Amino acid sequence: MAYNFPETEQKILKFWQENKIFEKLREKNKGKKPWSFLDGPITANNPMGVHHAWGRTYKDLFQRFKAMQGFDERYQNGFDCQGLWVEVEVEKELGFKNKKDIEVYGIDKFVEKCKERVRKYSAIQTQQSIRLGQWMDWENSYYTMSDENNYSIWHFLKKCWQDGYLYKGRDTVPWCPRCGTAISQHEILTEEYKEITHKAIYFKLPIKAGKFEGKKFLVWTTTPWTIPANVALVVNPEFEYGVYKVGNEKLILLKSLAEKIFGIEYYLEESIKGQDLKGIKYEAPFDDLPRVKKISAEKPDTFHTVVLDKDLVTEIEGTGIVHCAPGAGEEDFKIGQREDLAVIDVIDESAVYLDDMDDFSGKNAKENPEMIFDYLKNYKSGEFFYKIEDYTHRYPTCWRCKTELVWRIVDEWYISMDKIRKPLMEITKKINWIPSFGKERELDWLKNMHDWLISKKRYWGLALPIFECQKCSNFEVIGSKEELKERAVEGWEDFEGNSPHKPWVDNVKIKCQKCGEIVSRIKDVGNPWLDAGIVPFSTMKYFSDKDYWKKWFPAELVCESFPGQFKNWFYSLLVMSAVLEDKNPMKTIFGYASVRDEKGEEMHKSKGNAIWFDDAVEKIGADPMRWLYARQNPAENLGFGYNVAEETKRKLMTLYNSYVFFSTYINKDELSDEMLKIKPENILDKWILQKIDKLTLLVESSIESYNVARAILAIEDFFINDLSLWYIRRSRKRFHEDNPERNGAISAFYYVLSNLTKVISPIMPFFAEQMYQDLKIKNMPESVHLCDWPKLDKNKIDDNLEEKMDEVRSIVNLALAERIIKGIKVRQPLATLKIKNIKSKIQNNDNLLDLIKDEVNVKEIIFDGNINNEVELDTNITEELKGEGLIRELIRHLQDMRKSLGLKPSDRISIFISGIEELNKIIEKNKEFILSQARAVEIFIGNSQKDYDLEKEVMIAEKKLLISIKKK
Ligand SMILES: [Zn+2]
Ligand SMILES: [Zn+2]
Repeated sequence: MAYNFPETEQKILKFWQENKIFEKLREKNKGKKPWSFLDGPITANNPMGVHHAWGRTYKDLFQRFKAMQGFDERYQNGFDCQGLWVEVEVEKELGFKNKKDIEVYGIDKFVEKCKERVRKYSAIQTQQSIRLGQWMDWENSYYTMSDENNYSIWHFLKKCWQDGYLYKGRDTVPWCPRCGTAISQHEILTEEYKEITHKAIYFKLPIKAGKFEGKKFLVWTTTPWTIPANVALVVNPEFEYGVYKVGNEKLILLKSLAEKIFGIEYYLEESIKGQDLKGIKYEAPFDDLPRVKKISAEKPDTFHTVVLDKDLVTEIEGTGIVHCAPGAGEEDFKIGQREDLAVIDVIDESAVYLDDMDDFSGKNAKENPEMIFDYLKNYKSGEFFYKIEDYTHRYPTCWRCKTELVWRIVDEWYISMDKIRKPLMEITKKINWIPSFGKERELDWLKNMHDWLISKKRYWGLALPIFECQKCSNFEVIGSKEELKERAVEGWEDFEGNSPHKPWVDNVKIKCQKCGEIVSRIKDVGNPWLDAGIVPFSTMKYFSDKDYWKKWFPAELVCESFPGQFKNWFYSLLVMSAVLEDKNPMKTIFGYASVRDEKGEEMHKSKGNAIWFDDAVEKIGADPMRWLYARQNPAENLGFGYNVAEETKRKLMTLYNSYVFFSTYINKDELSDEMLKIKPENILDKWILQKIDKLTLLVESSIESYNVARAILAIEDFFINDLSLWYIRRSRKRFHEDNPERNGAISAFYYVLSNLTKVISPIMPFFAEQMYQDLKIKNMPESVHLCDWPKLDKNKIDDNLEEKMDEVRSIVNLALAERIIKGIKVRQPLATLKIKNIKSKIQNNDNLLDLIKDEVNVKEIIFDGNINNEVELDTNITEELKGEGLIRELIRHLQDMRKSLGLKPSDRISIFISGIEELNKIIEKNKEFILSQARAVEIFIGNSQKDYDLEKEVMIAEKKLLISIKKK
């Protein structure tokens, strides 16, 4: 039987919509105990991907499960709207290359375009999520670009300012020359480091005076564009350096690296401790540039001297003498501050060399390393040049546009972390992290993180409400729209009616509280993680309805893909909650890894292995996708693709076929209340009832503890091994109309299936609904999603029977394996099966022993402690047993023929058999058995027949036999 997932899902979607099932569910649970889920906003910048579908599956299944338990929920979805990711896409749309293009186009028009893009993709993502089966209050999604969200962050920033956490810092920061903005430490994730081969250069710097005059330092760098910004050299005070005679020069470098650089032809003239190089002055090749001259004159004492540092200098690579440019490197900047070094800034926001740098000015530093090499090769007849070589290393790139980063010295705004580090770590410890390593990772990050760089020199984002006086340097932070209106001295009319974004908000000026000067807002926008971090406040009415906020805060659950979020969303949530309330904003963080392709590789459009959500959901169906996602261990990456999806579907077909079996044998009209109340007596029925109850309890406790995969594996094990391969397999006969146990079996099977639909409904909402609708009888709720989770008493379940059945099944498995080894088909009856375990609890239970006899096809079971193996089959096939085997073979053919005619179990047939004289007697003898097994009313032996529905020639006992059947 085939089940068309995508087609059925479309029908169910319509059913839900037309009958307002979700609205009815909300109504049903309204006012009950709350269960608060906090949605991490999806970036509304592109259609949603199969990786988003993984997270959205979890989000939906937890919420559906909690709804079945009767909890009231908010069902609020979020869209992340502001920030560089949207800007970059809009730039691409408009064909822009850099920030100048945006300014020429008009910031207002550009910002409108960004908003437009967000609206477009949030609508698309909404439709896609609905298609996945996600139930949310879609009309009421939150958008981080909303006025409310932005003003909430203003409030937060004002609090930071009042508490003394907010400051302006001048620092060397990682910078994307294409995006023209700083990239905060939080945004440089491990995956943004790319393996890149650069040209590294060795260059020589002559010593000016003193004992070593005339000798040269050999220095190495992988960022040659920074050499003009050099102000010092760093050596390790504890290392041994050497003066080497190479040709007619004397070069100083680390002794342990000399061989690597020179090969064999070099000569050590003198050893020096790093310590003793301190303070030596040297000459550098760019000293004549006006910019270098001017800035170095500010700090002549420390300019071009050797300084000491134990951490920066290693023995692994280079020369042991490190080039230090505080204007172009993070570590360099720190050393510069410690040693009071001059800071020479050499590039602008696009990495173009600044003024006063002769021929270099106006040229892009990163794109033209050759000009530095050429210069060094020619300057003073190449006296400073040593050699160039390829150097491959992991180098950070922009997370948004993949451009290689540079380091620039800039003024940026920061939130100081030192004072809130401790409370942050405290609230982090209060959270239940799943997987548990999440807690350690977050704490590790919090322990080591720098201050939070919150400003960006961009356009589409939170307008940082910082007003800095150009005259007296005082700055203030405005905490709300009302406060801004009150303080406004000009421009309010131009702003009113617009969203608090650039360029409109920049019309508003206030008066400096210190000196009375008219003050503008700083030009920067905010780090986008501020936008998402504030949502436990902005979306839960923290400012407008404290009772509501107290009801829903902290959230029970946050559920996001963890790579990246430790430094980003989780982090910003924690910081903002620590500052505003000193409380953990959620009780549990459930994290999951990343989606990869089936080979475990990252999906990329360019690699051709990307799978689009829309394609996947229409090819595979939402339910098998959800099943596949939910089955995965969330701590590990998920390999997604059409092959694994096929596998999942095949498995689910087993479940489908079980319920097809039910509806084939049972007419819904006969399912009376009385019948369903029958307490079954048969041991198989009793057993499967226990099994489904235990499964229900296990799924409940697993989902409650967010161990979804355990729930899924248990459900699969149930419907494959217990239901299909054992219960149905061993119960077929009992569903026949004339079987005395039929009603009990129906009652049990119905209970199993109807509970199973509930158990799977949070995971496969469509499939469950389809099954439920097929099984539904009067007085039952309209939809499976309006049903309560089955309430069971753990203590009423008796494990005893399960244990015995496990033994039965293990004996069966051993015996069947024995048959395979001996090459005897199961259809061939055998006389005895001996079982070694004489202490077995099933010994006196005829019902259980009958199950073994039927399944293993033996006449008798003997418990015998003296046999060698666990089980032993008597493989002696007597004439009589052989005859029975042939009969079973015949019955199998008859059943196949019924199937190919598409007969229902209630259809009766006539059988005509001719061809083998020797068989006639055996058939005659087993006539009744054949009639009942083939559901026939008569058998004619010996005559061929012209009037039949199907005729088939088969081989039995290596002879040809002609069988025909006719429907009565
Ligand atoms: Zn970039
Ligand atoms: Zn002032």
